Amino acid sequence: MKTCKACILSENFPGIKFDRKGICNFCSTYNKYKARLTDYNTLKKIFMKKIQQVKGKYEYDCLVGISGGKDSSYILYMLKNHYKLNVLAYTFDNGFMTEYAKNNIKNVIENVDVDHFFYKPNWDFQRRVYKKMMNIMGIPCKGCSLGMYGTSFKFAFEKNIPLVIHGRSPQQMLREFAPDSRDPFVPFIENSLSENNKEKQLKTLLEFAKRLEKLLSIENEKEDPLIDEIRTKFFPDVSRLLDADMIPDFMGYFIYHEYDEEKIKSFLEKNLNWRRAENDGLLTHGDCYIHDAVEYLRYKKQGHTIMIPELAVMVRQGKISREKALEIMRKELAKIVEPRESMMILCRSLGLDYGKLKKELD
Ligand SMILES: [Zn+2]
Repeated sequence: MKTCKACILSENFPGIKFDRKGICNFCSTYNKYKARLTDYNTLKKIFMKKIQQVKGKYEYDCLVGISGGKDSSYILYMLKNHYKLNVLAYTFDNGFMTEYAKNNIKNVIENVDVDHFFYKPNWDFQRRVYKKMMNIMGIPCKGCSLGMYGTSFKFAFEKNIPLVIHGRSPQQMLREFAPDSRDPFVPFIENSLSENNKEKQLKTLLEFAKRLEKLLSIENEKEDPLIDEIRTKFFPDVSRLLDADMIPDFMGYFIYHEYDEEKIKSFLEKNLNWRRAENDGLLTHGDCYIHDAVEYLRYKKQGHTIMIPELAVMVRQGKISREKALEIMRKELAKIVEPRESMMILCRSLGLDYGKLKKELD
């Protein structure tokens, strides 16, 4: 199987293309942006300017999505205590939040002391969104990330909050970073790298909406009524956006700040009574019940796990050597076994036939 000569992605990775030298489109895109993505002096100035432009002008300065994982907990602390912003915290309950995540959220909210609310879409709708995403992408995850980021933007717009700041790690933000990838969030990266104005912000959103439509309508030619429901429940009314005085800026905290996973974990343990998950390790996620099942599905259907494109980002960033990443990848793939409990939860929740799914995978 063909593998990129610079990173570790193979030809089975969705949306991958190779140039004549055997370098993938994700590496060449990263290389094009590398100077801007790593110039933290300039990025920090852009971040400060974005904050200063709006600070104190509205009821809240920013809306921050918090999942109970380390990154969102950390940025909540920093935005409130270091940047002195008036923060509204928000949790999208995706239906699969672990007790571990819920406890962390409770602790963090009490410790940082900010206003917070949960939103949980009705299950029948959310289940259909997951199933649709499974049909399109083989795994349900985009049904959660669209809900989480879409509703955070929608609520910020409706509540007149000028900034939405999220805590996706650079590995998460950049793992499908290429102009023609299927990740609808790609336009926000470009948008984060320079100062903001309303026109640019609107252009980015329309680009995002276009990519999303494309993703959602892959499955069939005729319009699925679920797409309209997704639009209404997860996104602000576009016609209102066009006439709005203020459009929230959607920003990744870790575009502007260097990211050190281990430092963040120790900081949280020390300052916020935050607990590591039992299976804690590099690039792990203890906040979702179906994470292991999804990783298994991804491996069986696509031949990789989410850790692999994230390791590839670390190789591009020079945080880990290609050889080391290949070694971690081989170990990761060798230890994959069916996570039965997580698979049962997935099937039971989405109304899938476990036996049938297993047969499909074999
Ligand atoms: Zn590559």
